[in-house]
Amino acid sequence: MFHRVFNNPNLTVHFNTEAVDVISNSKNQMSGILLKRLDTGEESVLEVRGLFYGIGHTPNSQLLEGQVELDNSGYIIVEEGARTSVKGVFAAGDVQDHEWRQAVTAAGSGCVAALSVERYLVTNDLLVEFHQRVAEDAKKEPSDKDVQMSFDITLTKHRGQYALRKLYHESPRLICVLYTSPTCGPCRTLKPILSKVIDEFDQNVHFVEIDIEEDPEVAEAAGIMGTPCVQFFKNKEMLRTISGVKMKKEYREFIESNK
Ligand SMILES: Cc1cc2nc3c(=O)[nH]c(=O)nc-3n(C[C@H](O)[C@H](O)[C@H](O)COP(=O)(O)OP(=O)(O)OC[C@H]3O[C@@H](n4cnc5c(N)ncnc54)[C@H](O)[C@@H]3O)c2cc1C
Repeated sequence: MFHRVFNNPNLTVHFNTEAVDVISNSKNQMSGILLKRLDTGEESVLEVRGLFYGIGHTPNSQLLEGQVELDNSGYIIVEEGARTSVKGVFAAGDVQDHEWRQAVTAAGSGCVAALSVERYLVTNDLLVEFHQRVAEDAKKEPSDKDVQMSFDITLTKHRGQYALRKLYHESPRLICVLYTSPTCGPCRTLKPILSKVIDEFDQNVHFVEIDIEEDPEVAEAAGIMGTPCVQFFKNKEMLRTISGVKMKKEYREFIESNK
């Protein structure tokens, strides 16, 4: 490793140096790393656009020492089917893999371990199935009347097309509509971001989430081609559409100047 590093002209080794902070430019993009010399305390900025942490090769298996058999480097020793030296204890992921240590190999071994656990429980007659009783009422979708009864314009955050229609016609505030769909990963990223921004403008803005699978006709009427998508309305006029996930600042600045 040492020779490979020193013989590679693309690499510069910074000895006695600590990475203290990440520096960003005015566009909030990474532009460098603040370095600190451990011997002199001198600080300097190394201009780089990326950062990758090498976290070393010591498996986090200390809690298993003396309980499950480990190899000399601390990796859990497994046999076929993710079995460890202790009956009924299975291991998966990097902690038992001294060679590949990749996300996909870890996930694959997790699957093997999970199936092995299930097989172990079944063959040892230890599997007990619990079924949750679903109350009849809980299964029922809320009726239109329920939705209408629960609508309260004094609240800031709403959901569904009834709320959107009411707010569109009656709200004097800026209305922020978030279009989502249940299988959209970026929607899950955006929701908490937007929710925090809306909280900052509570009582000055109305927020409605529209699930485009629940309310496809609303999405179609609004010309929504993908999720997540945010639209801002005020006085029955559509002011702006923002597609995808943007920085908090972008939503905040727009609301601030249009509230
Ligand atoms: C900087 C970096 C970049 C990487 N890039 C890639 C890549 O591009 N592609 C790729 O495939 N792989 C990559 N990997 C490797 C990949 O992240 C790992 O292989 C994968 O995360 C291993 O999954 P795991 O579930 O086995 O372990 P981990 O993801 O490490 O999860 C173990 C979890 O157990 C928790 N834990 C530890 N001890 C305890 C305890 N005592 N009690 C309770 N919880 C505990 C930890 O907090 C952690 O959440 C990268 C790794 C690093 C460090």
